[in-house]
Amino acid sequence: MTVRPADYCPNCGTATTTREVEGRERRYCETCERPVFHNPTPTAAAAVVDGDSILLVERAVPPGVGEWTVPGGHLEADEQPAVAAARELEEETGVRADPAALELVGAELLAPFGDKHAVSMAYAVPVDDTEGTPEAGTDAAAVRFFSREELDADAHAFRPHVPGRFERVLDAL
Ligand SMILES: [Zn+2]
Repeated sequence: MTVRPADYCPNCGTATTTREVEGRERRYCETCERPVFHNPTPTAAAAVVDGDSILLVERAVPPGVGEWTVPGGHLEADEQPAVAAARELEEETGVRADPAALELVGAELLAPFGDKHAVSMAYAVPVDDTEGTPEAGTDAAAVRFFSREELDADAHAFRPHVPGRFERVLDAL
């Protein structure tokens, strides 16, 4: 299983071929005699909500440098989604939240980063249930709250899913 179409088998290193498996054209390893499935990677994100504003971070590392997004990232292999969301929130913004205080507001397939696909589990938490002052941390160039008006004003670049996430998060809390 890979997040991008695999040119080589991740198990044995053989160059893959393609063949139809379960109704789709897929990469296939002739040595292992099995398909190399291309699947989205799970990610989790935590939106801190203050009135009609949510906390966003400006991405400092590729892909999407300079774009604002909800703090989040990949799950470790042994990590529950809400724990990952709280960890990423603290790493990127310095804001701490108890994973148990995070409310799941949905899950969505994100617009791909090139040919990399990801699913985001979207959490939200009221700012009153968090601790710490927002400060740009790992992978973040800046961090600040954005209101709905600022989101609509077109003065900043946002990841494609941010406007929809904004609505979903504000509706949920
Ligand atoms: Zn193989």
